[in-house]
Amino acid sequence: MKKRRIAILGSTGSIGTQTLDVIRRHRDMFEVELISARSSADLLIAQALEFDAANVVICDERKYPAVKEALADSDTKVWAGIDSLCDLVRSAEVDMVVGAMVGFSGLRPTLAALEAGKIVALANKETLVAAGSIVTRTMREHKTVILPVDSEHSAIFQCLLAAQGNEVEKIHLTASGGPFREWERSRIAGAKAADALKHPNWSMGAKVTIDSATMMNKGFEVIEARWLFDIAPSRINVVVQPESIIHSMVEFVDGAVIAQLGHPDMREPIGFALTFPQRVSVGNRKLDFAQLGKITFQEPDQRKFPCLRLAYEAIEKGGNAPCALNAANEVAVAAFLKDAISFYDIPKINEMCLDGLDFVEEPTMEDIFETNVAVARKASSIISKL
Ligand code: MG
Repeated sequence: MKKRRIAILGSTGSIGTQTLDVIRRHRDMFEVELISARSSADLLIAQALEFDAANVVICDERKYPAVKEALADSDTKVWAGIDSLCDLVRSAEVDMVVGAMVGFSGLRPTLAALEAGKIVALANKETLVAAGSIVTRTMREHKTVILPVDSEHSAIFQCLLAAQGNEVEKIHLTASGGPFREWERSRIAGAKAADALKHPNWSMGAKVTIDSATMMNKGFEVIEARWLFDIAPSRINVVVQPESIIHSMVEFVDGAVIAQLGHPDMREPIGFALTFPQRVSVGNRKLDFAQLGKITFQEPDQRKFPCLRLAYEAIEKGGNAPCALNAANEVAVAAFLKDAISFYDIPKINEMCLDGLDFVEEPTMEDIFETNVAVARKASSIISKL
């Protein structure tokens, strides 16, 4: 295989560092063309030196001088700001863009990559939640593909390789249930950020870990699956599978269900996207079925986790509703991480923002950016009055 030239948007975060770990194991297969960070300058510098990155972007412009200085003796070019990132992903030197930024901020550079016809390995689900119809249309127009990195969607993608053109009856999206699966509702109500950050199975960034605790993450994944696989939300079923061994399943008309299994480790879906259609070793643990003993299933508890229902409502409503839900949730989660609001304030804020939305049926990119700003402002104002 010709060396794949990779750009990693958000290389210092959880997905970014694990992407570089896979690349570290297969240096002969990849060139690191571009890495970027929001503000983790020290790690970005270390990564640039280790992987001999051609370009680095530090989005926080105040940190540019320090990064520039540290890489002065290397061949790495240093840039600042998100506009530079959007320009650089279009470069002819880039084959694949790994979208590993957190939240809505990943949308612009991901769109820029798709417009330039790049293959996008997408971990940043908020991009599809906020603007799924625009993002997938852009992908089709520029005849490129989005390869899922989210473990459930990577699983579905792998299961669909068995479809052979047959229509999918149902997608079964598995959920761990998060750290509060067995807590009573009254106890969850008093949970702090530190409790929610203790995910039982997956090691992930703070934002997605809180979203897992509220099950907003699973709701967003329903929306993500709707766009990635062009399937009606009514055909997407969420099932809790607390061991996180089955990463998701696809059911066909004859009742046959194809599942993808593995030890929970993000390097597996990352590796699959990076080297698709080839498979490479990624250093993860392998399954020992006898030791595992059993895999269990449960219905998600909608009463304890109302965010899941909100996601179905938003995607059924369509237009800018999912964008609004995402914007509200980003603000609510940031406040919860600072222990400024309670756990159930998150779904409350999300629902209030969704209900009071200035609805746009077929949003343009401008509408999406406006919705994001307006709803974030509304969520902040709700928080200030709580
Ligand atoms: Mg996931």
